[in-house]
Amino acid sequence: MPPTPDAPRAAPNDAFTLFDVRVEVIATDRPMVCNHQPGDWFALVGENLHFPPGQSFPLYPLAALLPLLPAKQRPTHPHDWMTTDAVIACPDPHCGGQFRITRTGTTTFRHADVTRVPLAAADLRDSACA
Ligand SMILES: [Zn+2]
Repeated sequence: MPPTPDAPRAAPNDAFTLFDVRVEVIATDRPMVCNHQPGDWFALVGENLHFPPGQSFPLYPLAALLPLLPAKQRPTHPHDWMTTDAVIACPDPHCGGQFRITRTGTTTFRHADVTRVPLAAADLRDSACA
């Protein structure tokens, strides 16, 4: 039944939750080549990367990590390797650095705060593609 013109409309529930992710450099028995040290870290909350004050992070390992992070932010099937595997090797084959990706918590966002595409339009587009 449609709402009457004077009835208050409930705000649409457009909330969704993502995992907060932390990436930390871990040592191996091989020396580091890149400018990352054991214990260096950064965090990802929503679309924002956070680095500790004064700490840098090399570009090439960051570029290798970036494609994995959105998947780690989202729920994955328990049998999916994305769920079980958390240690990623540095892309420099001579570097002993590795990176542990940890889900540290969750943050809830609203669809309307992160995109200008209305939910109804997205729903219609997705059903048309199915
Ligand atoms: Zn490295």
